[in-house]
Amino acid sequence: MIGVSFSISCCIFLTIIATQYFLKERLKNSDNQIFSTLIIINLIGTVLDIIGFFSFSILGVDSSISIFISKIYLSYFLTYVFCLTIYVYSISSQKKSVKVSWMIALFILLNIIIFLLPIHIVMQENVGFSYGLSVNVAYTIGFILLFLMIFLLIKYRKNIKPKKLIPIFAFIFLMIITAVVQKINPAVTLLLLSNSIVTTLVYFTIENPDLKMIQELNIAKEQAEKANHAKTDFLSSMSHEIRTPLNAIVGFSQALSEEDIPENAKEEVKDILMASENLLELVNGILDISKIEANKLEIINTEYSIQKLLDDLVTLTRARLGEKPLDFRVNFDSSLPKVLYGDHTRLKQVILNLLTNSVKYTKKGYILFSVASIQKDGICRLIISVEDSGIGIKPEKIDKLFTKFERFDIEKNITIEGTGLGLAITKKLVGLMHGKIIVQSVYGKGSRFTVAIDQKIVENQTTVIETENIKPETIDITGMRILVVDDNKVNLKVAERLLKNYHAEVISVMSGAECIELLEKENSIDLILMDDMMPKMSGVETLKRLKENKEFHIPVVALTANAISGMREKYLEDGFQDYLSKPIERKELDRVIQKYSKKS
Ligand code: ADP
Repeated sequence: MIGVSFSISCCIFLTIIATQYFLKERLKNSDNQIFSTLIIINLIGTVLDIIGFFSFSILGVDSSISIFISKIYLSYFLTYVFCLTIYVYSISSQKKSVKVSWMIALFILLNIIIFLLPIHIVMQENVGFSYGLSVNVAYTIGFILLFLMIFLLIKYRKNIKPKKLIPIFAFIFLMIITAVVQKINPAVTLLLLSNSIVTTLVYFTIENPDLKMIQELNIAKEQAEKANHAKTDFLSSMSHEIRTPLNAIVGFSQALSEEDIPENAKEEVKDILMASENLLELVNGILDISKIEANKLEIINTEYSIQKLLDDLVTLTRARLGEKPLDFRVNFDSSLPKVLYGDHTRLKQVILNLLTNSVKYTKKGYILFSVASIQKDGICRLIISVEDSGIGIKPEKIDKLFTKFERFDIEKNITIEGTGLGLAITKKLVGLMHGKIIVQSVYGKGSRFTVAIDQKIVENQTTVIETENIKPETIDITGMRILVVDDNKVNLKVAERLLKNYHAEVISVMSGAECIELLEKENSIDLILMDDMMPKMSGVETLKRLKENKEFHIPVVALTANAISGMREKYLEDGFQDYLSKPIERKELDRVIQKYSKKS
């Protein structure tokens, strides 16, 4: 009676575990496949044991049903041990799925043999025992499998995670206990109980992540990514939208500032220009940080002249210094290579940011901009440092320096414009270029920002690096015919106004289709400035259509408010000869006009 009550308890217990297990979604791996089989076999075993008990007591041990049940029970025992052996093989071979077809074929054959061999049952203390050739063969195979398990465990011990060993050791240990107990008191059968314990232990050692939770997390991740994309898209279209009116403000003020207007009006126009530049910087900053956060900011490496980059930076910083009584010192390594390979736009942005900060946060004294280099194995490590005698940074603030929107001493710096984005972007950009940035600062005395970035040295340069210095007043392109294509009337007006200064003849059209139509009749256009984002036919599409005509040879420059990083390269790849961003920078326009004028 003890035996059957054990079996009934095991049956209930295993049913609970099986229900819990099968109701949950599972990974389709060998661990789960084997465990599913193991628990079903174990459950069948408990049911067989219960049926056997009643069959022996009611129908008698000689009935064919009792003999049949005994043989199936033997088969159960073998199947269970076999299944566990496959589990050991699976965890030791570390295969994702185990192919066991030949083993199963052999196993079925063994079961048939067991079925064919004779079996006898005797009753002792109300418990039925089977013996005979069938039982001996079954136990022998069982022991062979047990040894096989031990062999696998020893051979692959390094592959097996310790927690996976627990059910296997428990199985070996419990098998020995079962055999010993049964030898002492045959009425106590512990086989099913020990199998159930082992099955339960396997259940607790298989790695079964909560798939539902993972699915929910994946959905949440997808939603967050979508929201982030939406944010980036929103910001880039906002940047485009803000640039368009800014183009008008900057363009017209620039044109006005060059005209003969009263002195006080000139001052005000200058202020408008400065305010627009700040606004543009802000738009670019927000766009950059959102691109960085969406992992969309790419580093685009090209060949460039480091000398020209540094000269540009010096000119820009001098312009920013304006009337400030600061000593701007420059110290560049004279052995810098001529041409380097890297993302010069981003490098320039990084250094300009540091220089702009020095100008902003230094009232008197000096700014020292120095560039040193270490050259080895075709790599030039640029060590760029920007030092100032400015307000300095408190030690406790240094850690937060590169966090976006962090600004310090707000009360003191209330008059200094800024967003707290500059250094956050700088740090990310330096990281993307595999460089390092460090800060040293003494509060009240000054700061030094040092950036180290490796750039490849270009020995045999293939591209021509533009180093020309353009003097606007020398550009006169009288007679040059420039076609401007833009769907926005104000933008057209701005371009016309700016180009008027060069004495060029400007023809404007408002769509790609009009441009194509005009060029079919006109053959004396010298340069085309083309917007990209136009309804119906974009600038890129228009250019493609124009280039279908093999004789088309007019240089086409992209003139667009789509001014996020990497856009220049994209437009050049699309077949544009050059790129101008809106708001149009006077210097850039000078460069383009001079480059494509017939007189150059
Ligand atoms: P922003 O200058 O737009 O406020 P940044 O990210 O460039 O933003 O700088 C963050 C803060 O770090 C600034 O607000 C300022 O308090 C401090 N800081 C940056 N550079 C310097 C510097 N050279 N000297 C003193 N403080 C600085």
